[in-house]
Amino acid sequence: MSSYKTSDGNYLTKDYIDYKVQETKELYTQTVAQSLHIDQDDIFCERCKISNRIATGVSRSHIMSVDYCQRSGCSELAFDIMNLEHLCLDCHREIESNTNEFRKSWYIFRMEHILKFNEIPDYKQFKENINV
Ligand SMILES: [Zn+2]
Repeated sequence: MSSYKTSDGNYLTKDYIDYKVQETKELYTQTVAQSLHIDQDDIFCERCKISNRIATGVSRSHIMSVDYCQRSGCSELAFDIMNLEHLCLDCHREIESNTNEFRKSWYIFRMEHILKFNEIPDYKQFKENINV
């Protein structure tokens, strides 16, 4: 069984990480829907604000990929609720085209700027001002 290092030097099994990722994804959608007073099915893309049903487009995307978190010795970030975004397919593809360094910067920026889940930081503004 493969296991991956955490920031504090412990190891987590892949099964545990995958279980926690699923749990956190569900919690993320619940939390955002509750904060915005909308139905979970009416979740929209956090970047372009396109509303869609999760089943047909908007999905819960990792800002820093699970693979990156595992490989870089911070596997607990794979199930950090702040490492998730609801994105449509186009925005999901866009984030995957960015470097890990860029994605980490967006994660940190978002952490610092998010006060409540109904105050979503502006990705466009972030992207215009970052040099990674
Ligand atoms: Zn989008």
